[in-house]
Amino acid sequence: MLSLMSEPTETRRERAARRAGEFPPAPEPLPRPVLDSHTHLDITVSEAGVPGGGPADDPVAAAVALATTVGVDRLVQVGVDVASSRWGADTADAHPAVLATVALHPNEAPRLADLDEALREIESLAARDRVRGIGETGMDFFRTADEGRAAQEASFRAHIAIAKRYDKALVIHDRDAHADVLRILDDEGAPDTVVLHCFSGDAEFARECVRRGYLLSFAGTVTFGSAAGLREAAALTPVDQMLVETDAPYLTPTPHRGRPNASYLIPLTVRSLAQTTGTDLDELCAAISATGDRAFGPW
Ligand SMILES: [Zn+2]
Ligand SMILES: [Zn+2]
Repeated sequence: MLSLMSEPTETRRERAARRAGEFPPAPEPLPRPVLDSHTHLDITVSEAGVPGGGPADDPVAAAVALATTVGVDRLVQVGVDVASSRWGADTADAHPAVLATVALHPNEAPRLADLDEALREIESLAARDRVRGIGETGMDFFRTADEGRAAQEASFRAHIAIAKRYDKALVIHDRDAHADVLRILDDEGAPDTVVLHCFSGDAEFARECVRRGYLLSFAGTVTFGSAAGLREAAALTPVDQMLVETDAPYLTPTPHRGRPNASYLIPLTVRSLAQTTGTDLDELCAAISATGDRAFGPW
């Protein structure tokens, strides 16, 4: 009795499923199709299995099919190292709903024995047609300590140059490093399309990014009860500079925090953004979809 009362917002069934690491049930479908602008299908399948628990012979096709049933009909598969970038590029070639981005993650770059060689591999992948972005790259002062920061910055600068050489979107990972990300972008000169993935800044930083014409991609974090500052940032972002993402298998939106994430859960974040921005859901889906096509498309 006491244990039932101690967690009034979580049912016993939900709690058991979270502990078992099960994917949550599919949400209500969206009225119009949108994309998942940032996902890690490879990590999702290896850490949590096939979304929806479908057949494992083609996990990507199963994940896309499930997402499509709720109106998420396109996704961007994001690379974090040479192997995952190559996998993403091959997966995008094989699946019409998938496009890829390629990069060395900012926490990965400082750990590489030969950063230059890895960057050459990324550059060779960048030339491929269904690779439409360079990322995730950027700065992370949360997980990388002082001694890794020079390599992290050198890697970020090299990725910016690759994005410009191949005219691809730059997908930025920025954790506790807002000012440095802007400083380095100014120094190198930003490419035409800049996406701040899993936007994590406050209203002031959002205003600066909007002014520069960058795209702000909101993840499940925007649905978290504690994220009032992030919702303030979302509320002032014009819908035509807004994207939505899972960053799956991480950052599962409310009310399924703690369970694995996948593209089919995007409707929860889109509905939350519609409420936050006071935008009609239909209109918001259309705007996000068009922005995704502009940044990465056509699929
Ligand atoms: Zn990231
Ligand atoms: Zn990511």
